[in-house]
Order: sequence, then C-alpha cells, then structure tokens
Amino acid sequence: MKIAILGTVHPKGLEFLKNNEFEVFEVDNFEIQSLKESLKNVDGILLRTSKLDQDILQHCDNLKIISRHGVGYDNVDLDFLNKNKIALGITSTSNAASVSEHVMSFFIYLTKNLSLSDSLVKEGNFDKRSQLPDIFELYKKKVLIIGFGRIGKEVAKRCLGFDMEVYVYDPFLDSDSIKKNKCIPIEKNEGLALADFITIHLPLNENTTNFISEVDLKLMKKNTVLVNTSRGGIVNEDDLYQALKAKKIRGAGMDVYTSEPPEPNHPFFKLDNILLTPHNAALTLECRERMSLEASQNIVYFLKNMNELNKENLVNKKYL
Ligand code: NAD
Repeated sequence: MKIAILGTVHPKGLEFLKNNEFEVFEVDNFEIQSLKESLKNVDGILLRTSKLDQDILQHCDNLKIISRHGVGYDNVDLDFLNKNKIALGITSTSNAASVSEHVMSFFIYLTKNLSLSDSLVKEGNFDKRSQLPDIFELYKKKVLIIGFGRIGKEVAKRCLGFDMEVYVYDPFLDSDSIKKNKCIPIEKNEGLALADFITIHLPLNENTTNFISEVDLKLMKKNTVLVNTSRGGIVNEDDLYQALKAKKIRGAGMDVYTSEPPEPNHPFFKLDNILLTPHNAALTLECRERMSLEASQNIVYFLKNMNELNKENLVNKKYL
C-alpha cells in the first residue's frame, strides 16, 4: 500500500512504515494541482500542516486514512472524511508535554525580563540591575486554563508545581473532574477578570473563533499575561494588538497566528510586550520523534492490525 508523507517528519516514522512493507514517498510540492496528482492513488496520508479540502480529497480515490502529525485537525475537511468513511487519526499521546513546557517558558520569559537582563550583563552594566523594570513570580499567582483536555491538564500539573492557584474554564467537563486535578472550575468572564496568567488550549472551530476579543481583553487585569499556543484565530489579533499597545495587559505570548507565517508587516512585530514563536511549541526533537512514530503507527495499525491501534487516536471512529 502507498503512503504519502506531506511535509518533512522525523525518520523514525518513515522507518516504521517501511519496515511494515508500505511504499512511502515524501511530497514537497504543495501546489493544489500537484497535490491532486501525487495523492491520486494513495491509501494513506501522513499530514503535517497542509490544508486538505474537498477539492483535493475528492481526487484521492483509494484513500482510507489521514493521520495527522499532531492533534489539531482544522486543516482537514472532516465532513468529507466522515461522508466517505475515511479515517482521521491524531497523535494524542505525543504533544502535551512539549506544548505545556512552551507555555511555562512564555510565562517565565514574560515576567522575568530575561532578554533585558542578559543584555545588561553582556554590555558590562551588571551594576545597573536595579534600573531594570520590575520582575515577577509565578508563585501564588492565579492562572486560568481555557480548555482542559490533554494539553490543558499537563499545563495545570506544571502550574501546580510552581505553587500557582489553577482555575479552569471548560464547560464540557463536570466540575468534579476539574477538582480531581486540584484545579478550581470557573466561568469564563469571572476567570478572565481574576487571572494573572491566561493560557488557551482550545480546538479551532466556529465556536472558538475570536474566543478572546476586545470585550474579553477589557475584563483582564493590567498585570495579565495571555498565552495562546492553540490555534491562530482564537485570539483576535487586532484586538490583542490594541490592548498590548495601550498596555491594558502586561504581555502576551503567541505561538500561532491567523495566517501562518504572519504577514511581514504584522503589527505584533512593533510591540515589545509580546513574545512570538513560529508555531513550534510541539517541535522539540523528542516530540517530533513521538509524533512521527505515532502518526505512522496509526496508519499501519489501522490498515493492517486494528487490535494494536490506540482507538483514542481515531477522531471519527463512529463514521467508519
Ligand atoms: P483536547 O481535545 O484534548 O482538549 C481540548 C479541550 O477544549 C477539551 O477538554 C474541550 O472540552 C475544550 N473545549 C472545546 N471547546 C471549548 C469551548 N468553546 N470553551 C471551553 N472549552 C472548550 O485538545 P489538546 O490536545 O489539549 O489540544 C488543544 C489544541 O491545541 C488543539 O486543538 C490544537 O489546535 C492545539 N495544539 C497546538 C500545538 C502547537 O504546536 N502550538 C500543538 C498541539 C496542539
């Protein structure tokens, strides 16, 4: 059977596919016409971030599974897959540790003046450290986690390790399951108004687009640090820019953007109270290796040995 890898992945996954006697080829031309050609006869696709809509998918006559290298799947036309009984896999056990470490890095960087402190020492100005802007602790601060799934829960563990007070907004979970994780359930607006740190772990869909916009930013405290490692479009970028420019909140950390890469003259680039990373929260070496292997295992097990498959990884099992 033929498997297309869309984008570059860690060799571990490729090896696994090849060892299981799949014919594997890597696709590096993402132009629509070329994708239609190269995906025509494939049985499976290992997909990084390229968009696969109906226009492309309807040309994939043999397709049985798309396996995402990651957990978000807003780049795939899920309705089309459901209607055509094509499986969608994700790497549910791979990402949470690396993304939650990224969140903690944002929190720390945005409260400790690390860049300014580093320049001060390297420029021979150690004695001027009292002139640096104030720095702050995470200790005893209130953090609001929005979306308490795989990543939200890992962030909570790390925040508890820093002795933070952890609040959770996730209306799809019952309060007890939040409390069991030593966190405090809270409503959205109440949480936005009390949090010193806010971190978002939602899927992107019609209910979560612009989940944080001007009205929400207005509820936040002046010292709030807002972090989004979920998907661009969940935080309204124009509204966040205005809030940061007017210093309505302390700072923001963004790993994801409405359009990726962001436009070269994106207003965020003019701000000094925002830290930007290139959608690499899950791209630690360890996580790339895990995602590559788990995405490949989803394909191999789905096509050859269902007993081995982690069923949690099948997003649309009820349609198959
Ligand atoms: P998950 O499905 O385990 O958790 C999502 C949680 O959000 C669920 O508990 C759900 O109940 C909750 N939720 C959904 N809609 C909500 C709403 N309207 N209000 C409040 N809560 C809501 O997902 P996950 O593995 O934790 O990943 C979260 C998102 O992070 C993914 O969808 C993906 O887009 C993104 N992600 C980004 C990176 C990166 O590299 N930056 C890596 C991995 C995942």
